[in-house]
Amino acid sequence: MDADIVCVGFGPAMAGFLTGLSKQLVNPDGTPAVESAVMPGTPPQVLCYERADDIGFGVSGVVTRGRGLRASFPDLDPKQIPMATAVTEEKVVYLLDPIGASRRSWALRAADSCIRAFAGLLPFEHEAVELPWTPPFLHKTGGLVLSMGQFMQWVGAQVQSTGTVQIWPGTPVAQALVEDHKVVGIRLLDQGVDKQGRPGDGFLPGMDIHAALTVVGDGPVGPIGQQLDAQFGLPEGHHARDWAVGMKFVIDLPAATALQPGTVLHTFGFPEPEIFGFLYVHPDRVASLGIFVPSWFDTPVRTAYRYLQHWMLHPYLWRYLKGGKLRSWGAKTLGESGRRGEPYLVGDGYARVGEGSGSTNVLTGSGVDEAWTTGAQLAESVLELLKAKKPLTRQHLEETYLKRRRASWVEAEGRIAEKSRDGFQEGVVRGMIGMALAGLTNGWLSLSGEPLPPYKRIPTLEEYYHGRIPAAEIQQLRKECAIKGVSLHGALMQRCGWPAIPYDGQLLVSHQDALLLGGKVQAPPGYADHVAFLYPELCERCGTKICIELCSGQAITPGQGSVPAFDREKCVHCGACYWNCAQPLPDNPERMNIAFRAGTGGLHSAEN
Ligand SMILES: Cc1cc2nc3c(=O)[nH]c(=O)nc-3n(C[C@H](O)[C@H](O)[C@H](O)COP(=O)(O)OP(=O)(O)OC[C@H]3O[C@@H](n4cnc5c(N)ncnc54)[C@H](O)[C@@H]3O)c2cc1C
Ligand code: SF4
Ligand code: SF4
Repeated sequence: MDADIVCVGFGPAMAGFLTGLSKQLVNPDGTPAVESAVMPGTPPQVLCYERADDIGFGVSGVVTRGRGLRASFPDLDPKQIPMATAVTEEKVVYLLDPIGASRRSWALRAADSCIRAFAGLLPFEHEAVELPWTPPFLHKTGGLVLSMGQFMQWVGAQVQSTGTVQIWPGTPVAQALVEDHKVVGIRLLDQGVDKQGRPGDGFLPGMDIHAALTVVGDGPVGPIGQQLDAQFGLPEGHHARDWAVGMKFVIDLPAATALQPGTVLHTFGFPEPEIFGFLYVHPDRVASLGIFVPSWFDTPVRTAYRYLQHWMLHPYLWRYLKGGKLRSWGAKTLGESGRRGEPYLVGDGYARVGEGSGSTNVLTGSGVDEAWTTGAQLAESVLELLKAKKPLTRQHLEETYLKRRRASWVEAEGRIAEKSRDGFQEGVVRGMIGMALAGLTNGWLSLSGEPLPPYKRIPTLEEYYHGRIPAAEIQQLRKECAIKGVSLHGALMQRCGWPAIPYDGQLLVSHQDALLLGGKVQAPPGYADHVAFLYPELCERCGTKICIELCSGQAITPGQGSVPAFDREKCVHCGACYWNCAQPLPDNPERMNIAFRAGTGGLHSAEN
């Protein structure tokens, strides 16, 4: 099939692109403002394919300054968008460890002792200190609290109502079609295949769609972005080694909540010093809250779900959350390399937008506005080229899109953020100082540190628990958990003093119950598994098996032999396994032993 423009993914970046484009393809009198090359006499044929079951079924709790969003919608009224509200209050909170189980450095322990000793003089309450000042670079004053799902559905309806763009959810793109270094379109995913991708009854090979421009906005773990990175490489010195796994609950707050709509809390310090938390209050007593587990958290037990529950139980937060009820949950990875992870943004026949193009800013904790803005910049550029009847070549896209992007605030702020997190590579206290330095000096000063791939930094379980749990006991626990087919982290955390979670069936539910209750995971049959373990021999020599420990949906479990088992029906498509595998590929040390391919299904919730 032929189209003029084909788009991969419908996240905020693509929404920015299609909003800008769709508004200007038709003149006020209904005639085409520019003409389609494949269907003369009509406006360009624009098709967008999204892998999730419906529009806006991704995961991200969002507070945003909304500069790019407001530029596209100057009259934006949050009341028009379900779950949206203006930011009213913003606090940064340091959480102390009320249990004594977290791994704190001596510096942090000393700081905690000082805080407790001078508690009467400090804003210290409920085992936490509210910082008297929020650094300006973190401020979202004048911004918005949004449900990304609801916002994307709102934008999707507006874009489609123009009649110039078709968005197809539940339709994963399998690959980009590349001929002579030129992207000429995309191929959709095969249907009617078994888990290994072998044709079965009702086999339907993925359709090819040829287009003059392929816009790639498939996010931090998108398979088309991965393919282009593998095919065209990354610019000299660039890499994508910084990331975080974000896990989130959407909850009903208790009836008597003191939290007002528009409240924004950022936390650090607990359950482990490296884990950052967020809580945003929507209208009608609904809140989005969650944690980020970053790439530089050097533990083989990176279990976001269990840590999220301990975080909610912290006295500072629990006083607000007790009596609340889970509505929905999910997980997603966040590409945190930013400007340093930027791939080639344009080439013949293609352009990249959004987080997969390195737009996310780790210093300001902002990704949506940046992603949106890159999409909007591409829309202006494509319209300029189409009106000038110039082909969508690398050169022309560089002269328009790249030029706009380089001259914009996304680039300027991305440069400031570039080295802001390097300090974390050598500890959280150093990291916070480095971040503050970069933020307060506009990037002139920062602390150094080399981001390493996980296999170079994740210690073995025996190394990590040295002095706390004897190696023989770890071995015994490993055997017991393998027999039960469960991950190890529960037993290890319990052994280190983390208390059992007091399940209440409402907000504190087991991981499995969350999959049924709040996750609503879908996995349509007839598609190949999207998570694959590439080399069994690498799994055999892998002692940490971190993929099992961190899996956001308990979809990866101990297998029959050394290779883990994967259950698509529990996978929330967060992509965490793709980043975290502990063994490098023999032919590409930047990539690990897990493939994360195109797949349908995942979370079925438009509230996240
Ligand atoms: C828990 C969490 C909280 C966050 N909170 C904030 C916040 O408060 N403020 C903020 O500004 N940012 C926040 N972010 C970051 C923000 O969500 C991202 O920066 C933003 O979503 C990036 O937009 P994008 O369009 O580039 O990519 P994505 O949002 O990842 O969208 C990519 C889309 O492509 C689709 N796709 C992928 N592969 C395929 C395929 N093969 N075929 C078809 N479709 C495909 C995906 O399903 C997805 O819909 C948060 C992120 C997380 C994980
Ligand atoms: S997929 Fe990676 S982390 Fe998991 S067992 Fe295999 S090598 Fe280890
Ligand atoms: S298997 Fe699915 S749920 Fe588990 S970490 Fe990988 S992408 Fe996330």
